[in-house]
Amino acid sequence: MSHGPEEIALAIARLRAGGLVAFPTETVYGLGADAFSVPAVRRVFEIKGRPEHNPLIVHVSGPEMGASVVSSWPREAQRLAEAFWPGPLSLVLPASSRVPREVTAGAGTVAVRAPGHPLTLALIEAFGLPLVGPSANRSGGVSPTRAEHVRAEFNEADVLVLDGGPCRGGIESTVLWLADEPWRVLRPGLVSVSAIEGVLGRPVAGPVAPGEGAPADAMTGALPGPGLMARHYAPRTPASISDRTQIAAAGADTVAIVMSPDATSGGARLIRLPTDAPGYARGLYDALRSADDLGAARLLIEWPPRGRPPAEADLWCAIYDRLGRATR
Ligand code: AMP
Ligand code: MG
Repeated sequence: MSHGPEEIALAIARLRAGGLVAFPTETVYGLGADAFSVPAVRRVFEIKGRPEHNPLIVHVSGPEMGASVVSSWPREAQRLAEAFWPGPLSLVLPASSRVPREVTAGAGTVAVRAPGHPLTLALIEAFGLPLVGPSANRSGGVSPTRAEHVRAEFNEADVLVLDGGPCRGGIESTVLWLADEPWRVLRPGLVSVSAIEGVLGRPVAGPVAPGEGAPADAMTGALPGPGLMARHYAPRTPASISDRTQIAAAGADTVAIVMSPDATSGGARLIRLPTDAPGYARGLYDALRSADDLGAARLLIEWPPRGRPPAEADLWCAIYDRLGRATR
């Protein structure tokens, strides 16, 4: 994991040539390309197999560059950027005419954030222009949280990988719609709704429920947003939500992701995650990938039991969202 200036120089040469560079962030690894280059952005969609209607998040070095990709930068956006950037909060605002329609999926709005990883901030600063950065995996699959996950998805000739170590956060950014009223969370993520409300001094609407895949108490709000796909973040192994009793009774054809310290197995192979929300989020995608590597016939995921600390409620909500989408 060398972070020398040579590595950044190589990455910049790749980006200037319209190529792709995977970069570490505090959420998951991103697949970076020059956000103002139509061919480079098209290449991102092509290599990911991403549907054209799913817009890309634009990664910037800070509020100043953020303001350069939108047509207006309201006071509230500045306040949120000052409070949470660099960090896992993407703000959706009306796009500047400089942003190609491929990035916005023709919506006229753009999601923007400054990623909280020093290597990637240095890259964007040195490049001098914003980078698109969807998760560095094939569309619909599990987001990568380690450089080796990215290398397993793409070859080095297509994607240069900057190795910044394992991602601290482990799930994607919170996406906040500020383009018109009502302001609302389109995707729950690592920044909690209550923290956003604390900075804004007013309520925002909660995220979309992921659908029938998740138990009824999983989510708070129910406002639809654009660009949200039902099945996403999914392992290859057929996965379903389960509980300790079912997992204990499962056989050797099964792999299970559990969090109860006393969860036991009759024959299923167990992958354990921590019981705290930050630890669970950090380990979840790695666990889903490890489960796939075992080649089991099915994957059971223990639904996190009730009775968790209220301070972790919003992060669990984001985790439930991912579990719901992974098991549809
Ligand atoms: P990913 O890059 O895979 O983390 O996905 C980015 C997600 O951010 C999309 O699937 C959308 O949910 C959301 N997003 C990005 N840009 C916009 C936008 N302009 N309007 C609404 N949602 C957006
Ligand atoms: Mg993704």
